[in-house]
Amino acid sequence: MKHISILIPAYNEEDVIEKLYERLRMVIDQLPFYTFEILFVNDGSKDNTFHIITALREIDRRISYVNLSRNFGKEIAMIAGLDYVNSDAVIIIDADLQDPPELIPRMIQYWEEGYDDIYAKRNSRSGETWIKKWTAKTYYRLLQGFTRIPLQENTGDFRLLDRRCIDALKSLRETQRYTKGMFSWIGYHKKEIMFDRDPRAAGESKWNYIKLVDLAIEGFTSFSTTPLRVSSFFGCIVSMVAFIYMGWVIIKTMLFGDPVAGYASLMTIMLFLGGIQLLSLGIIGEYLGRVFNETKRRPLYFVENYNGDKEGKLEEFREERLTMVR
Ligand code: UDP
Ligand code: MG
Repeated sequence: MKHISILIPAYNEEDVIEKLYERLRMVIDQLPFYTFEILFVNDGSKDNTFHIITALREIDRRISYVNLSRNFGKEIAMIAGLDYVNSDAVIIIDADLQDPPELIPRMIQYWEEGYDDIYAKRNSRSGETWIKKWTAKTYYRLLQGFTRIPLQENTGDFRLLDRRCIDALKSLRETQRYTKGMFSWIGYHKKEIMFDRDPRAAGESKWNYIKLVDLAIEGFTSFSTTPLRVSSFFGCIVSMVAFIYMGWVIIKTMLFGDPVAGYASLMTIMLFLGGIQLLSLGIIGEYLGRVFNETKRRPLYFVENYNGDKEGKLEEFREERLTMVR
């Protein structure tokens, strides 16, 4: 019998965990030909999330958990979960019921047909402001123009991944993770299914604009070096123009003398050059920061405790890590 893990990153989700479990249970109880594991990754929640998960495990042994030592963010929570998954496929789903568990049977069906990565694409972004819709759209278009790997618009992390995708994702150990891009980058056979995204069942979104901008920059810097090239391109153009203008100024002074006008043009040019320089420095800085972070080679996360049916998994994992370092 094939074994499927359902991976749920959860951070301060005490209001929805039980509802989610109920909905999930209804779905998986109707799939008798598979065995399931419901793996919660508690991402350092500060509320009762973890207690609720442990209580649920008491009544249903299919539930297991990885408890991280602090809040690492969803991207890290996902890779932590993948490290602890030991099954033929994994389904990543948000805790807040924005991703309907009822799509799972269809995902499994496509998986059986031979697809490796079945992702759910949102039909609409209802309930979101037009500003958010517009920025999301422009951002995707821009990023797509900058990188050669095909990106999936309006797609979250809700998807089913075959074992080979799990192994591929596990081998990408970069610290600053842009998982959305990684799903595309690894390739394999993809299949999209459409759905209407529900509003959050309870609790509140952990995203704010600052975090979104952060993630957006992450997307660019981890999947494209085009911004670096754009900055050197502008650098070339601007310095060429500056050089020509310099020549013109010299010739003009030699021919007609210097009447000391030109404060305005001097200011404009100085400001413009300064701006371009700062911008380029900033872009280079972004990349340098990434290099800095990767060279530290820190482990991505620490686990406080793991409770699943793979006894000795922690040990096994340490072994694996050691061999990787060697
Ligand atoms: N999440 C997490 N760690 C965090 C923030 C969020 O594990 O630091 C989880 C959260 O519990 C939820 C999922 O990531 O299961 C998506 O979060 P959220 O609903 O806040 O994001 P949105 O749907 O608004 O994009
Ligand atoms: Mg949500």
